[in-house]
Amino acid sequence: RAKENGRGQAVRYEADLDLEREYRSRLEEELRLAIASENIHLAYQPLVDAATGELKGVEALARWTTERGPVSPEVFIPIAERAGLIDDLGMGVLSAAIDNIGRWGDIAVSVNVSPVQLKNPNFAADVTALLSTKSFDPARLTLEITEGVLMSSPEQSKRSIASLKAIGVKFALDDFGCGYASIGALREFGFDRMKIDRSLVMAIDNERGAKVLAATISLANALNIPVTAEGVETPAQAKVLKLSGCDQLQGYLVGRPMAAVDIEEKFIVTAA
Ligand code: C2E
Ligand code: MG
Ligand code: MG
Ligand code: MG
Repeated sequence: RAKENGRGQAVRYEADLDLEREYRSRLEEELRLAIASENIHLAYQPLVDAATGELKGVEALARWTTERGPVSPEVFIPIAERAGLIDDLGMGVLSAAIDNIGRWGDIAVSVNVSPVQLKNPNFAADVTALLSTKSFDPARLTLEITEGVLMSSPEQSKRSIASLKAIGVKFALDDFGCGYASIGALREFGFDRMKIDRSLVMAIDNERGAKVLAATISLANALNIPVTAEGVETPAQAKVLKLSGCDQLQGYLVGRPMAAVDIEEKFIVTAA
């Protein structure tokens, strides 16, 4: 009886795997088409000064909606990485973000970059060319990278970062605190900003979590690296973060990711 059960489960498991594979390759084809036909859209989430609440920048977040509904970037970014589509997708995001926010005075834009893009030896030259074609001030651009970059091709990644920093582009270490990234890595790669992951922010509500967070922020500040907190959802979290020396806030409390026109409407944006 037990044996039968086991066998049944194995069959079901294989059937699931087939379905999963089929679903993935179908998504991959749809994604390829969506990128080619510029059907990846952007939402913008406000980044505000922790002390004054003033809009400092926005993070551009990729959005994709199929006939069956929206697909999360947590799903389609890894597919794009595996299918060799991430370079096109990433440059499309960067280009659209610059077009959208170019006229917003000195508001900065943050764009997420996959470690796969960063280890491409052409990455820095491609970004440099795009910025110059669009006459966009490199100092208004921040590229957000997760620690994955510390694992794969650190040498090529370091070169890409260094040559973009040389023209004024800024770099932020994304999702700090949810993996292996160390404070040392901030220095080694020349990051200009640290973004504290939502999981650390959520832990503020217990005493130990609040201490870890405060210590992390003071370490970064001791290295002159300003900190953005992600996933700030409550006024109580915002208060602790501010008191702990956090420089910028991002999260549903301030604003969800939204269309560019909504940023213009809800936040004071002075025209260039
Ligand atoms: P991320 O860069 O860490 O972006 C922040 C994520 O947290 C976003 O999820 C945002 O919607 C969500 N978030 C912000 N505030 C809150 C909050 O207060 N509460 C909660 N529960 N969530 C909040 P999203 O848009 O689903 O993106 C997920 C991840 O996908 C991003 O994480 C980023 O790693 C990746 N991603 C998105 N767009 C791109 C892109 O254009 N290129 C690359 N390479 N990755 C991207
Ligand atoms: Mg990010
Ligand atoms: Mg993040
Ligand atoms: Mg994240």
